Amino acid sequence: MYVGGLKISNITDAEKIIYMDNAATTFTRQEVVDEMMKYFNILYGNPSSVYEFAGKSRDAVEKARKTIAETLHAKSSEIYFTSGGTESDNWALRAVAKAYKNKGKHIITSKIEHHAVLNTAKNLEDLGFKISYIDVDEYGVIKLQRLKEAITDETILISVMTANNEVGTIQPIDEIGRIAKAHNILFHTDAVQYYSQMPMDVRKSNISLLSASAHKFNGPKGVGFLYINEGLHMVPLIFGGGQEKGLRGGTYNVPSIVGMAKAAQIAHVNMKNKINTELQSREYFIKRVLREIPYTRLNGARQNRLPGNINFSFQFVQASELLALLDMEGVCASGGSACASGDSAPSHVLTAMGLEEELAYSAVRFSISEHTTRQEIDYVVDCLKRIIADKRRDNELIQYYSDRGRGRRR
Ligand code: PLP
Repeated sequence: MYVGGLKISNITDAEKIIYMDNAATTFTRQEVVDEMMKYFNILYGNPSSVYEFAGKSRDAVEKARKTIAETLHAKSSEIYFTSGGTESDNWALRAVAKAYKNKGKHIITSKIEHHAVLNTAKNLEDLGFKISYIDVDEYGVIKLQRLKEAITDETILISVMTANNEVGTIQPIDEIGRIAKAHNILFHTDAVQYYSQMPMDVRKSNISLLSASAHKFNGPKGVGFLYINEGLHMVPLIFGGGQEKGLRGGTYNVPSIVGMAKAAQIAHVNMKNKINTELQSREYFIKRVLREIPYTRLNGARQNRLPGNINFSFQFVQASELLALLDMEGVCASGGSACASGDSAPSHVLTAMGLEEELAYSAVRFSISEHTTRQEIDYVVDCLKRIIADKRRDNELIQYYSDRGRGRRR
C-alpha cells in the first residue's frame, strides 16, 4: 500500500488510502521506530534508578533533551517532557496562573486557539481569572492593536498559537513576543502545528513557554514537551516523583522521548526541502480547485500559512457529507474542528474569521505532506469535482421540490 507516496508493506493495494490529514497526525517514521525499539526490551531501565543499566536510559533521555533544545536555540535545562500538546498547554496556562496570581489575574489569548488552550482558559475563568479573547481578521491573523489595548497592570500571560490547526495561518509571534517583553508579561505559544515544520528561535521571539507534540512531526503519539524559559517561576501540573526537577512527576516514557528527538532531528535536517515540496504541492492543489470548482473559497491567509495546509469552503455542500463521500474514495481529510458530526456547532476558528455559518459548515481541511504526490492531488481534485457537482445537483433538486411543496401548501 502507498500512503502519501510512501510504500507501506503488509497491506494490499485494495486498501490504498490517500492521506491528507497530516495536521491531525502523521505516520511515525521507520528510522524513529528503529531508534525507539531498543528502549522497549533491551535498554528498558528506569532512568530514575541508580545502577549503571538505568544510566543508559537516563543518557538517552538527556541526549534527546539536548537535541530538542538545539532545534529551538534553547538550553537543555529548559525542555520538560510531557504526554503531548494538550498537557503542555494545560501546564503552561495553569502553572503561570498559579505561580503569578499575586501579580495579577488577567490572561490574554485569541479566539482561534486550540481547545487545549481555550478550555483551560475557561476553567481558569471559573477559578476567578479574567481572560481576554482577542479577535482575528478575515485571514485568521490576531489583531495586534486589540491585543495591546487589552493589556492591563493585572496581565500576567499572553498565550497565542504559532500557527492555527484549521486554516494554517501563522501568527506574528515575534511582534507578540516584543509586546509581551515590553510590558514584562510572559508569552506562551502553542507551537503544536508549527514546531518542526518551520524554524523557531525562542530567544529571538521572546517566548517564555512553548508547547509541542511529537505525533505532528512523524514522531510517536502521546509524547511532547514544554519549553520553559529558565527565568520563570514554575509549579507542577502533575505531582508525583522527582522527575523533571520535581515539576512533572511520572516515569519517563523513554522510547517515545527518544523517538520524538529523532523525529525532530530528521525534520530539521529536511526542513527546507520539505517546505519547498509542500509549497509547490499546495499551490498546485489550490490553483486547480479554485479554477475548476466554482463557488469555492480558500479560507485562511494566501501566503502566511503552514506550507501543508489547505482549507476550502465548498458552497452548497455540507463538509460532513463531503468527507464521508471522500472517505468512500479512500481520501482522508477533516472538517472544521467540531463540524464533522454535522449537527454540532460550526468551527470557532472560521466563525471568528467572520465566515457565514453556511460557509463554515462547508469547510474542509486538506493537510498534505512532502510525500503527497501530484497523482494523489489530481485524484483528489477529480473526486472533489465529481462529488461536489453531484451533491449540488441533489441539493438543488431537494430545494426545488421543497419549494414546490411549500408553494402547494400555501
Ligand atoms: N494544539 C494544537 C494547535 C493542536 O493542533 C493540537 C492537536 O491537534 C493540540 C494542541 C493537542 O496536541 P496533542 O494531540 O498532542 O494533545
